[in-house]
Amino acid sequence: MGPADRIKQVTPSMTLAISAKAKSMKADGIDVCSFSAGEPDFDTPAHIRAAAQQALNTGHTHYGPAAGEPALRQAIANKLQRENNLPYEAANIIVTNGGKHSLFALFMATLNPGDEVVIPAPYWVSYPEMVKVAEAVPVIVPTTAATRYKITPDQLRQALTPKTRYFVLNSPSNPTGMVYTPDEIRALAEVILEHDSVQVVSDEIYEKIRYGDAEHLSIGAVSPALFERTIVSSGFAKAYAMTGWRIGYAAAPVEIIKAMNTLQSHSTSNVCTFAQFGAIAALEEPQDCVAEMLAKFKERRAVMLERVRAIPGLSCVEPDGAFYLFVDISQVNPSSKAFCEELLDTAHVAAIPGVAFGAEGTIRISYATDLGTIETGMARLKTFVEARLS
Ligand code: PLP
Repeated sequence: MGPADRIKQVTPSMTLAISAKAKSMKADGIDVCSFSAGEPDFDTPAHIRAAAQQALNTGHTHYGPAAGEPALRQAIANKLQRENNLPYEAANIIVTNGGKHSLFALFMATLNPGDEVVIPAPYWVSYPEMVKVAEAVPVIVPTTAATRYKITPDQLRQALTPKTRYFVLNSPSNPTGMVYTPDEIRALAEVILEHDSVQVVSDEIYEKIRYGDAEHLSIGAVSPALFERTIVSSGFAKAYAMTGWRIGYAAAPVEIIKAMNTLQSHSTSNVCTFAQFGAIAALEEPQDCVAEMLAKFKERRAVMLERVRAIPGLSCVEPDGAFYLFVDISQVNPSSKAFCEELLDTAHVAAIPGVAFGAEGTIRISYATDLGTIETGMARLKTFVEARLS
């Protein structure tokens, strides 16, 4: 007995594989500079931990409603109304085991075999694989540095067919760090509105991690018609350094939430009850912790960007969000996997090959790590690249 057909076609996560190898090298005493992390290196802020501890100590240790604690669903709806101008109510929200599971549950609960899902590349590694598990078809639209790795309205229009069910939009983006401007969002929205059966899945998990004057416009806020056709997926992991808590959510029309709830009630049940109380505190208490983490990311981003630009043969579009640099390494090695394997084995620097994101000839380096590691690792990367170009 082997794996099911639907699993055979799925590629295991390359980002988790590289991070695991870097961790095991570290455990063996090797001094690895890891730029592979997809998570903030900070601890969860104290007031969020305290709220979960209090919930744990006051009996919130039982099963709860599959769709989430009513107070958290309400707090999420309030946040989306207040910050994103999206008129959701608690009934439009489902709390899930991370943003990853909100997308997985959405696809499993709503896609039929043969449905198409348009995904711009570079993409977050899990989108196409989740779509495949749901027996639907990922339609990948490549983008390049020339458009700052953003899909254009024409590209989107050409990718849509009568079978298209979803267009997946991720801004700020993992892996590129690019943020679509409000005008770019509105232009994509117009294309979606030309096609009645298409809905937008807007993954906004990096929403709060933005630099300079980059604005975040949630596509559902463009018009009431588009609001009805949008599903927002987000979570607490990135903005509040809560990756291990496994709390995310989807916001969508009620019939979609009901379908996801049916699936969740037979698969994961509710998200850890007392953890949800930490999430309520994250949303409802002052947001200074987010600003403090952002200030650190900003400083690290500037250093890493400066260092990468000083390496001949590499190029990098300045990102406006998230905590990654997306670097073109094609002049050094056309194979990003070979580049990253050699970099880890010989220079002890962990980076993620762009091929994992559907963009060969690139790598993703994360600056969610301390400045000392950034300085050392970037010096090693420079020596590594220079040796290969000479
Ligand atoms: N979406 C994007 C673009 C991500 O990068 C991630 C995590 O890396 C997620 C969703 C899921 O995050 P989580 O499941 O930790 O909430």
